[in-house]
Amino acid sequence: MISQQSESPRLEDWSKVRQYNPMKVLITGGGGFLGSHLAEKYLLLGAYVVCVDNFSTGLRQNKDLLLSLAGADKNLMFLEKDIVEPWEPWCGFLPAGFDFVFHFASPASPVHYQRLGLETMWANTLGLSRALGFADKRGARVVFASTSEVYGDPEFSPQPESYWGHVNSFGPRSCYDESKRFGEALVYTHNLKNKTRHGLVRIFNTYGPRMDPNDGRVIINFLTQAQQGGPLTIYGDGKQTRSFCFVDDLIAAIQSYAKLDCTEPMNIGNDCEFSILEAAQTVQKIFSDRELKIEFQDFNIDDPKQRRPDLTIARKLLSPWSPAVSLEQGLRQMLGSLGL
Ligand code: UDP
Repeated sequence: MISQQSESPRLEDWSKVRQYNPMKVLITGGGGFLGSHLAEKYLLLGAYVVCVDNFSTGLRQNKDLLLSLAGADKNLMFLEKDIVEPWEPWCGFLPAGFDFVFHFASPASPVHYQRLGLETMWANTLGLSRALGFADKRGARVVFASTSEVYGDPEFSPQPESYWGHVNSFGPRSCYDESKRFGEALVYTHNLKNKTRHGLVRIFNTYGPRMDPNDGRVIINFLTQAQQGGPLTIYGDGKQTRSFCFVDDLIAAIQSYAKLDCTEPMNIGNDCEFSILEAAQTVQKIFSDRELKIEFQDFNIDDPKQRRPDLTIARKLLSPWSPAVSLEQGLRQMLGSLGL
């Protein structure tokens, strides 16, 4: 391990990295759900991985898990930093060249981004700007984690990348939606002005092992509620739809996107659309021994009524990638990791 906790890693440690010159990847939000999966996959590829996280929503147990992986002792550095603050005090210690910077640091669940509204806005704007500046100095390509929320409450389904969206700029979800939209505009304009080739992926609802049980998003809520004997809480009438992607499918697509010379947004997710009621019924089926009840609660303001990615571009440019894990298969895999 190069350094776990140190604020200022010892410079001599870096000689080990230079000796064999692996691929180098920096992941902001490396302690989060998606960031930690990305970090794991790059470690498995033999890459040198730097994770930066302030654990505002990331989990320390994800850091511990990454540090316990084979090769992490020499190939993983975990820095506990706020990416909104200047990077200069710590980034000078990092190698001169990087391949990729994944900017994944942001609360992503409605519960968390509404609790951390301002932090969310700065992470996706000023934090992204710092990531772009770092990447340019080190010759890296940035992949920004944008979101299906840029489409807001879409007027049709599925949503292609060409859809400009139907977004409320002044409401409970706007801190997330609009800062991600600003982030997209920043990547576009930065590329134009600086002749760079950074990119972004629009991530649709994703679930899998390592989600925080207190995350608040629907799949992890249903599973933890099922574990406790129910009821499963549905906000509104349950007719609103989402399309759920298992994390392994998502990460494979992001890694392929990173390797492309693509600066255009790309939808990534699973295009099987479920009503929230159907998702609850799938959980009821998996826990058929528990007779889980459903409790209908108030519908949340600005909650999108439908969401499904148009994956035409992803399937074409990332071929042969296509989401492979069904909701029921993914839920069963996730249950195993939750020890249910
Ligand atoms: N939802 C629900 N019960 C829950 C959590 C969420 O019915 O316990 C609904 C929520 O209102 C939304 C959908 O499930 O319509 C997906 O919500 P989530 O928070 O997972 O993410 P979103 O797609 O809204 O960002």
